[in-house]
Amino acid sequence: MSTPVLLEAKALRKYFDMGKDKFVHAVDDISLTVHEQEIVGLVGESGSGKSTFGKTILGLHDKTAGDVYYEGERLPDVYKAEDFKKYARKMQMIFQDPYSSLNPRMTIGEVVGEGLKLHSQDSAKQIHERTASWLERVGLQADHMSRYPHEFSGGQRQRIGIARALIMEPDFVVCDEPISALDVSVQAQVVNLLDELKSSMGLTLLFIAHDLSMVRYVSDRMAVMYLGSMVEIGPADEVFFNPRHPYTDVLVGSNPEPDPESERKRPSTAIQGEIPSPINVPAGCRFANRCPKVMEQCHTVTPQMIPLAQEPDRQVACHLYSA
Ligand code: SF4
Repeated sequence: MSTPVLLEAKALRKYFDMGKDKFVHAVDDISLTVHEQEIVGLVGESGSGKSTFGKTILGLHDKTAGDVYYEGERLPDVYKAEDFKKYARKMQMIFQDPYSSLNPRMTIGEVVGEGLKLHSQDSAKQIHERTASWLERVGLQADHMSRYPHEFSGGQRQRIGIARALIMEPDFVVCDEPISALDVSVQAQVVNLLDELKSSMGLTLLFIAHDLSMVRYVSDRMAVMYLGSMVEIGPADEVFFNPRHPYTDVLVGSNPEPDPESERKRPSTAIQGEIPSPINVPAGCRFANRCPKVMEQCHTVTPQMIPLAQEPDRQVACHLYSA
């Protein structure tokens, strides 16, 4: 991207303390830059650390190590109330599950307007007007404000979640599996809504999802995580149609192919073997016990993310590409 860097994570780590000197290595040494108005898709199996990464860069989890910069300013390691107040206007999150992320005892008007009430100087009248306007902008009606979450369908609840995040008019939004809890028939509607809002608001998105086809469709670049580490990043089409890392290869191969005329001509391949425990992370390459191309050094030497010689905008962590 030619636009300036908006957000940068450097060697970010998030470990969860399980007691007795045991730690879940949920996010381990991840670096990522996101440019203004870029959409970066983040994919990987369940438990790969995608959501934890998204929450840690927003300060919803304290960092264990590493740095996050927003517009060049280093973000706090541990957020205080005033930090949330300051950054809520810049960075927001759209959550995975529209059923559980909305307080059932709050009306939709209260849910959507809550951020403004907490983090802005707007009057009650201004908040009411903006809430009504945002409900209409996401395809609902202003007079829905007095209703409760259970009165809405899954797709409508996710629209409410989108309005709740975007009413703050942030520049950067983490979309954490925003469509995975929805019926297939409404997934495309929600993606199209996000796409339209991204364009009209000039948003920058980190789009976390399981569905690689959907991520390829919406993203400029695609990043792949495995067991807390990033293993590949590059232009979304390149990563999807021509994966370099063996994990990306089997992940793409096991992804349902919705389009029979797709350029991606590959047999579906199930990933073999068990994913190691994030508490006892193996030495060397974390994918070694499942990798069809494993070599001796893979069990002892940890591969680093390096740009490919022929594709400098693609980085891969694999000894197949080491010099
Ligand atoms: Fe496979 Fe080795 Fe590459 Fe890991 S480093 S993905 S085990 S070839």
